[in-house]
Amino acid sequence: MKPTICVLGTGWAAEQTAARLTSEHIEVIRIAPSVDPPLQAEGADSGVIAAALRQVEAEAGRFQLSCRFKGASSVYEANAVVVAEQAERKPRWSAFGLMPGEGVLSLSEALANPDRLPDGKTVVFLLGLAGESDPVITREVLEAAKAHAVTCKVYVLIGNLKVAAQGLEALVQECRTAGVLPVKFTQTRPAFRRTEEGMIVDMTDEQIGESFSILADRIVVDERFEPAGTLSALAELFRLEADAEGFLQADNVHRFPVLTNRRGVFVVGPSRGVFQPDLLEADIAHVVLEARRMLQEPSPAAGVTAAIEPGRCVRCLTCYRVCPYCAIQLKARPQVLPDACQRCGICAAECPSKAIILSDVADAIVLDRIEAFRQETASMQTSFLVAFGCERSAKLCRDATNELGLVLPQRMCFIEVPCAGRISLDFVLGAFNRNAQGVLVLSCHEGNCHSGQGNLHAKRRALYLKEMLKTIGMNPDRLHVRTLAANQPVEFAAVCHEFESTIHSLIMS
Ligand code: SF4
Ligand code: SF4
Repeated sequence: MKPTICVLGTGWAAEQTAARLTSEHIEVIRIAPSVDPPLQAEGADSGVIAAALRQVEAEAGRFQLSCRFKGASSVYEANAVVVAEQAERKPRWSAFGLMPGEGVLSLSEALANPDRLPDGKTVVFLLGLAGESDPVITREVLEAAKAHAVTCKVYVLIGNLKVAAQGLEALVQECRTAGVLPVKFTQTRPAFRRTEEGMIVDMTDEQIGESFSILADRIVVDERFEPAGTLSALAELFRLEADAEGFLQADNVHRFPVLTNRRGVFVVGPSRGVFQPDLLEADIAHVVLEARRMLQEPSPAAGVTAAIEPGRCVRCLTCYRVCPYCAIQLKARPQVLPDACQRCGICAAECPSKAIILSDVADAIVLDRIEAFRQETASMQTSFLVAFGCERSAKLCRDATNELGLVLPQRMCFIEVPCAGRISLDFVLGAFNRNAQGVLVLSCHEGNCHSGQGNLHAKRRALYLKEMLKTIGMNPDRLHVRTLAANQPVEFAAVCHEFESTIHSLIMS
């Protein structure tokens, strides 16, 4: 049976995504989502369902999207969802103290109506003066400046310009050749004032240190991309993490290019803050690949993912709030969605009732391993250390130390966890209760946690425990938190040896 993917969005990104998925023999449902009442009710493209999305249920491979339009409800089913909403262009009026009107227009207006920049006039384009310019906007400004330089006197006032995108460096040169006068600002900024003759731009040529003014017949204000208005509603509905600007992909290398924190929900192009049309094609190819891979993967066997013991659950909903993958749904009681659970263990570490089991890193198993290690190594004269480490970083470092022949502290029990977010207070206290003289908590670097915030959970708990150790008269240095990347085996070995020395000194003092 053909897989079905629901494409959410209006405009070119959604159209291109739907067309490409269809060409890949994927059944496509297109929904132009909106707030209630639906904004896209009239004039939507044929085949596009314009509706207010009300509810999303189920998990990767089995999404149910409840929509409402003109009082009627419908439910659409899809194996995966792609958010392909447009971005909105916002002129940077306020950054320059300018208002649209006589002689002042936005880049979009200038591009749509070239006649608004009549022949023989002095035209001033603003570019990147109020924040870094996106390559798409940069290209549009430079292309327009070059075209109008044939018939107008054209200045481009440039602030923070990124010319790394393909062809931009050459385009800047072509503008110069065409007669465009670029003025670069690093320390100063131009000022604008309206006079009876028109708009005056006062500025300083930073290279020669001279101030001068020009009378501008037209000022074209550049623009920035902002998330479409529907993105925040979609983020809430799907419980997707957004970046600082509101685009639907948190700044996490493990999510690039098209993944979100919710398995089976993908995000492409302008919805993830990437606006170059040519990059959308690559995004869609990744969606096809990831969706096929996801649908081919067998469901995890029972016991592999987190499970909630109903008898212990007090319905505090902590697990629902902390799960970074939206893998816990609320029915009569919280339930883990096995296909969505990524086994990070954050819920198990946070559950106040110890109602969540992740079988291979259950409390009893971990603490029994520590106890067994303690007994096996009891005759050793060195400090007894326990190191908890993420399997994506510290564990790989530990494995590499073997290959590199690096020696680790002899009496260090290494416990790998699926994510540092699984390192609970009980793990650390349990290690101390089994006579560990020092405990190391090793997580991935900040911003590099596969689960988003597992490393931050681990750090927060460790800092809390350090305070606790102080209050019971134990030296807080007996607990140490470090971050590592998977390719730092030498640093890993050094951290372990330094910690062993610290603990040795503490014991001797
Ligand atoms: S955190 Fe634990 S007690 Fe709270 S709702 Fe989840 S399973 Fe139940
Ligand atoms: S183990 Fe992680 S992904 Fe799975 S339900 Fe718990 S918090 Fe969510």
